[in-house]
Amino acid sequence: MNAKIVVLPGDGIGPEVTEQAVRVLQVVARKEGHSFAFSERLMGGCSIDAHGVALTDEVLADCKASSAVLLGAVGGPKWDDPTAKVRPEQGLLGLRKGLGVFANLRPVRVHPALVDSSPIKADRLAGVDILVIRELTGGLYFGQPKGRDTRNGAERAFDTLEYSDFEVRRVVELAFRLAKGRKKKVTSVDKANVLESSRLWRQIATAIGKANPDVALDHMLVDTASMRLVTSPATMDVVVTENMFGDILTDEASVLAGSMGMLPSASIGATGPGLYEPIHGSAPDIAGKGIANPVGTILSAAMLLRHSLGLEAEAASVERAVDQAITDGCRTGDLGGKLGTKAMADEIVKRLEAGR
Ligand code: ATP
Ligand code: MG
Repeated sequence: MNAKIVVLPGDGIGPEVTEQAVRVLQVVARKEGHSFAFSERLMGGCSIDAHGVALTDEVLADCKASSAVLLGAVGGPKWDDPTAKVRPEQGLLGLRKGLGVFANLRPVRVHPALVDSSPIKADRLAGVDILVIRELTGGLYFGQPKGRDTRNGAERAFDTLEYSDFEVRRVVELAFRLAKGRKKKVTSVDKANVLESSRLWRQIATAIGKANPDVALDHMLVDTASMRLVTSPATMDVVVTENMFGDILTDEASVLAGSMGMLPSASIGATGPGLYEPIHGSAPDIAGKGIANPVGTILSAAMLLRHSLGLEAEAASVERAVDQAITDGCRTGDLGGKLGTKAMADEIVKRLEAGR
């Protein structure tokens, strides 16, 4: 298969980890006879320095014309002023909106050899394999009106939690589709006892559940879900929820895995290229030292193979190589080991080359 992959290394450790993920994709291409063309572009702080904006129209157009986008991380102390007119995260928001990626997928698996790096008790972590799907382009973060005014002498601020049936349906349907390739279980998370938007969400999820009787659906209030994620995470499989609820729950779920450096994410839409990035940020404290854990980005590349290129076997082979490296004791600093970014990737590549 031929694919055009835009790489946005970004800032901080972004370039260090994407370099290794690209290497892994190159090995996959060579091994399986695919042709991947990579083109590297600026986005984030590095783009602000070069062009005065976090994402240029030209780079966005390149991303839209690609098969998939692989991103490192954006931001850092140099561009940290939250009141500045141009900020690195604007590039990320522009990219998500521009690509129409309405679902953010965050798988959380806890490798049996890493249960001790997690703050959660080991017996609760056995078998944890959760896929949290966060709605990404609607809900509280985008609803209108949003703003500030003064009423009766008091300063007010307001946000709107708004969803159309269409926005809810497409993300919940995606959750059901993905659940069919897993344990056939969907937990739809809302706050239907209080919020009208959640009552619409629950009504639509219920209807989709009826149309897909082979998948077990349960509804859970977001407060209960946040508790269950730490008390009984192994009982959850696919979790689908509103934008802000998902923002909070995905960060909470990521703690289960022990290190931010381990976890991938994918943002996908109905059609067009997906956006793949590790969940961690630019980690300015360790940038430039060659010690960042590349696993989250390498697993993001695996998700790219699966969701944008339809290469399931290749995706699984990358995930197996990562699993084997961890099983064999390969560890970067965040996991208490001594391997640097490249050395960790070397171990994964070695196992990938030897696999199948
Ligand atoms: P952002 O605002 O960009 O999300 P943040 O302040 O949340 O940034 P992160 O960059 O996500 O910070 O990093 C949080 C902590 O986790 C830092 O101490 C960082 O060094 C560590 N960390 C993040 N990613 C990795 C990684 N891939 N390997 C090792 N440590 C990491
Ligand atoms: Mg962060």
